Amino acid sequence: MDFALSEDEKLILQTARELSRAEFLPKAEEIDETSKFPHENVAKLSELGFMGMMVDEKWGGAGLSSLAYAIAIEEVSYACASTGVIMSVNNSLVCDPIERYGTDQQKEKWLKPLASGELLGAYCLTEPNAGSDASQQKTIAVPDGNEIVLNGSKNFITNGQVADVLVVYCMTDPSAGNRGISCFIVDAKEKGVELGKKENTMGIRGSSTCTIAFNDVRVPKENQLGPTGKGFNVALSTLDGGRIGIAAQALGIAAHALDQATKYSQERIAFGKPIAELQAIQWMIADSVTELEAARLLVHQAAVKKDSGERYSPEAAMAKLAASRAAVTVSDRAVQIHGGYGYIKEYSVERCYRDAKITEIYEGTSEIQRLVIARNLLK
Ligand SMILES: Cc1cc2nc3c(=O)[nH]c(=O)nc-3n(C[C@H](O)[C@H](O)[C@H](O)COP(=O)(O)OP(=O)(O)OC[C@H]3O[C@@H](n4cnc5c(N)ncnc54)[C@H](O)[C@@H]3O)c2cc1C
Repeated sequence: MDFALSEDEKLILQTARELSRAEFLPKAEEIDETSKFPHENVAKLSELGFMGMMVDEKWGGAGLSSLAYAIAIEEVSYACASTGVIMSVNNSLVCDPIERYGTDQQKEKWLKPLASGELLGAYCLTEPNAGSDASQQKTIAVPDGNEIVLNGSKNFITNGQVADVLVVYCMTDPSAGNRGISCFIVDAKEKGVELGKKENTMGIRGSSTCTIAFNDVRVPKENQLGPTGKGFNVALSTLDGGRIGIAAQALGIAAHALDQATKYSQERIAFGKPIAELQAIQWMIADSVTELEAARLLVHQAAVKKDSGERYSPEAAMAKLAASRAAVTVSDRAVQIHGGYGYIKEYSVERCYRDAKITEIYEGTSEIQRLVIARNLLK
């Protein structure tokens, strides 16, 4: 498999790096501290076409590869992991299913403004009693004339408080189990959509995660995305792509932590010499760079496989499993290398340590990634 970057991908890497380090990195601490949604960052990403990177140019996207997307998410997340997940959700979890399953009319109305960044999307699958076991949907959608009436509640929705467009998974036939789930595009301003309080999260504090309740929300029938009863397929195939985005976010967090740890180890003196000269520190750095590089290869492999049009579900799961573990481990070592200073918020490794953990939880926990990987081998 060829992972060499094309000229376009090299340009994306350079553009994303320059923008993120100049504009996002200096504000990341404040975003984390205040939990403020980074509207300015999203506007900058929109200007570059980064909110609909893989969407066909015909529908207002940038028409770029999944590899270009992974590279860009890593760079953005290196600077600000909150901005990384906001970008990932809009690209992978909202634009992607509308492009793959939407009618031309839906693409015109929703995909074009989502891809340009004029509108922001959220993906609404998780419920209080339907997390890893997403088939247990209790949100109900019932037809009424030319409309569908939605009732239920979703939780932990990234971008929830600021999103304009919600991709909502609902039960349309409770007797059919996961074959009774359908998907709908919902205007977040629709009457009966009620936003809960913003969650006070450990990390990615700028990403505006909240509960969303649907109380007799009426949407036109033409807002159904994909066939009736196929919503679970829409949800799971969408998560395959999403996992590449989250894996890339994890790479960015790990790369930031490793850079900081390497730099600090060369500056900090203990026992008369820089701690970088101590073998204990060198081993931590060596293990970190090895785990990061290995994970990056898996992420790029998954992206290249996706671009080839082949099934890439296990590759995406392996990429997320490895990259999220690398993010947690590398950030942990980075804090350790900083000693007491690593525990203080002025040093960004403390933020990396908190931001990293969520990558092992959302869009399928690491345990669920292992199920996907093992099932593929044992089938
Ligand atoms: C900050 C944040 C943002 C999020 N954003 C979104 C979003 O935008 N949209 C959305 O729909 N959801 C979102 N989520 C939800 C997230 O995807 C779920 O939290 C996650 O899938 C786990 O579900 P759960 O929390 O219900 O945990 P549970 O499913 O209850 O899992 C609890 C534990 O049991 C383990 N477990 C469960 N089943 C198995 C199994 N079969 N085998 C082995 N172990 C198992 C899990 O791995 C975990 O360790 C977000 C969550 C957070 C915290």
